[in-house]
Amino acid sequence: MPKFKSQIIQTTLRTIAKAQYYLEAKSPDDFIEAKKISLTKKFPLTIIGGGSNIALIQKEIKGLVVKNAYIDKKVVAETADYVDLSVSSGYPVGLLINETVDAGWSGFEYHKGLPGTVGGAIYMNAKWTRPVSYFGDRLISANLVDANGKVKCVDRNYFQFAYDSSILQKTKEILIEAVFRLPKENPAVLRKRAEGALAYRQATQPMGVATSGCFFQNINGTSAGYLIDKAGLKGYSVGGFYVSDKHANFIVNRGNGKAEDLIKLTAIIKEKVKEKFGVEMKEEVVVV
Ligand SMILES: Cc1cc2nc3c(=O)[nH]c(=O)nc-3n(C[C@H](O)[C@H](O)[C@H](O)COP(=O)(O)OP(=O)(O)OC[C@H]3O[C@@H](n4cnc5c(N)ncnc54)[C@H](O)[C@@H]3O)c2cc1C
Repeated sequence: MPKFKSQIIQTTLRTIAKAQYYLEAKSPDDFIEAKKISLTKKFPLTIIGGGSNIALIQKEIKGLVVKNAYIDKKVVAETADYVDLSVSSGYPVGLLINETVDAGWSGFEYHKGLPGTVGGAIYMNAKWTRPVSYFGDRLISANLVDANGKVKCVDRNYFQFAYDSSILQKTKEILIEAVFRLPKENPAVLRKRAEGALAYRQATQPMGVATSGCFFQNINGTSAGYLIDKAGLKGYSVGGFYVSDKHANFIVNRGNGKAEDLIKLTAIIKEKVKEKFGVEMKEEVVVV
């Protein structure tokens, strides 16, 4: 593995780890090569998009860590009513939302304020709840790197999209590009929706802090934030990590939080919620 060096990586929650081997993927070929190397060397392979839904608790991530820096976007079909937009998996979601709103292409506007990349948003099937909108809603097809390092084209049914879930979480295939069918709408209408969603976000979520957004999944439609709040944990802290006062499902790092603190805090949250409501909380964030 002479080409790859180790590298320190960091998430939006400001958790830090060393990647044993590190590669920035700038093209589909880079993903194929990374997958093939991981197969021949029998290395684990970890893909990082924006790192906005990952909590690193290991000091070192063994094997090859691939940071997605593949940024491309093109219209592949257009009618009077819609465009089919092919977007690379490393494309920043914030940029995509602004560009599609300005162009008058509907589908992403309610996600205004969602950090990360298209790959992470499809892997997680990122959502907005007012109104309910999933990032995968407009996906019609995609190219993946499969378990053998081969590119395969799949349609939307393949993804089995559900709450916080897509098939990629099971198959560990790599999303390279996705094509979205976006209806044409008045940009002013789209802008209003986007701004409304962002304003709600700003009113209900802590801004400008080190976080990974909602840490736990909602349970049967009940908000995890509500359960954590009612368990009396708003503001509760362990070392450098604390439960936000503004949104109880947001865990925030003051900057100096250690992995042990995060592990302890999440264990306490799970225990208190279980004690009070008899339910098991499950992480939404991918813990590595
Ligand atoms: C302030 C804040 C607000 C947030 N608001 C929301 C919200 O409203 N709704 C919501 O659903 N989430 C929200 N999140 C969580 C997070 O932003 C989303 O889940 C986001 O879509 C993750 O994208 P990412 O590129 O950062 O993924 P990462 O965190 O980098 O990765 C997440 C997972 O996806 C996998 N992955 C990434 N790219 C690929 C790929 N190309 N192929 C295969 N697997 C891949 C990774 O291996 C990892 O397992 C928020 C987070 C923050 C910090």
